[in-house]
Amino acid sequence: RREAAQAAAHADCATADGVRIEVFANLGSEADAHAAVAAGAEGCGLLRTEFLFMERSQAPSEDEQAASYQAIATALAGRPLILRTLDIGGDKPVDYLPIPPEENPALGLRGLRVGFWKPELLRAQLRAVLRVEPRGQCRIMLPMVASLDELRRVRAILDEERLALGVAEPVQLGIMVETPAAAISADLLAAEADFLSIGTNDLAQYTLAMDRGNPLLAAQVDSLHPAVLRLIGKAAEGGARYGRLVGVCGGLASDLAAVPILIGLGVTELSATPSAIPEVKALVRSLTLAACRELAERALAQASPAAVRALAPAGGN
Ligand code: PEP
Ligand code: MG
Repeated sequence: RREAAQAAAHADCATADGVRIEVFANLGSEADAHAAVAAGAEGCGLLRTEFLFMERSQAPSEDEQAASYQAIATALAGRPLILRTLDIGGDKPVDYLPIPPEENPALGLRGLRVGFWKPELLRAQLRAVLRVEPRGQCRIMLPMVASLDELRRVRAILDEERLALGVAEPVQLGIMVETPAAAISADLLAAEADFLSIGTNDLAQYTLAMDRGNPLLAAQVDSLHPAVLRLIGKAAEGGARYGRLVGVCGGLASDLAAVPILIGLGVTELSATPSAIPEVKALVRSLTLAACRELAERALAQASPAAVRALAPAGGN
């Protein structure tokens, strides 16, 4: 039995009626990559590159970054690696980037905005990713996108750096959908983004206007809120219009109560915490698309996240 469970954990994943769902892992270090492969991850849906930038006195060099990304790509043995560009600022401050005091850091200089504020930092990171081999294994994902214009600006920088490095092949460039603006205009963004990945943690924070770090509100910042689910549906719809892969890399992808709803809303890639992968895969295999759609439809009409959780077949987790 253990061997059967182990084999199932490593096989590709589809619903009982044959809808392919990719189950990827969120990573924050090279050690995580090994754990993820051992747990059956089909790839990495979110590499939080902040681990290289935090708790030090200066930014890592391009060479250091390239070596680290290469080690993670190698550990993934050919599986796709989605690297998120630097997402510092807000709740993730670093000493060598003295962001002027802000009254609302969550609404301030963070995510991709830092990359535009310090373009050399963004360019060095893009070059480091472009150097990873084999070409094509890495995809680049941008955090905190709010407008199509931001994606265009990064695409232009990326093409410039790519040509300067003599890399002929284009690199997939996708966005995180974690601002309400991105979710509402997903159809505009999907016209030019190679893929979309929904960051349900920040999407919940910004949709509900509740600080995800506030202990008094923590219990209420639940991404299963029907308002957040409606935006997830909108993002999936926008992505589908252009045939883009739409995934989830926020906490909901590891939440067994949410997985059937996400699939019902049109999500086809789940990037979970490595330890949750075997359970997520087992659950996906027990579902049908029709049942997931019906559940999602009901979830969108509930009065609270708790009411949504109460609908989940397993009672939630
Ligand atoms: C998210 O916001 O859902 C996300 C995946 O990004 P992070 O948790 O790193 O902000
Ligand atoms: Mg986020």
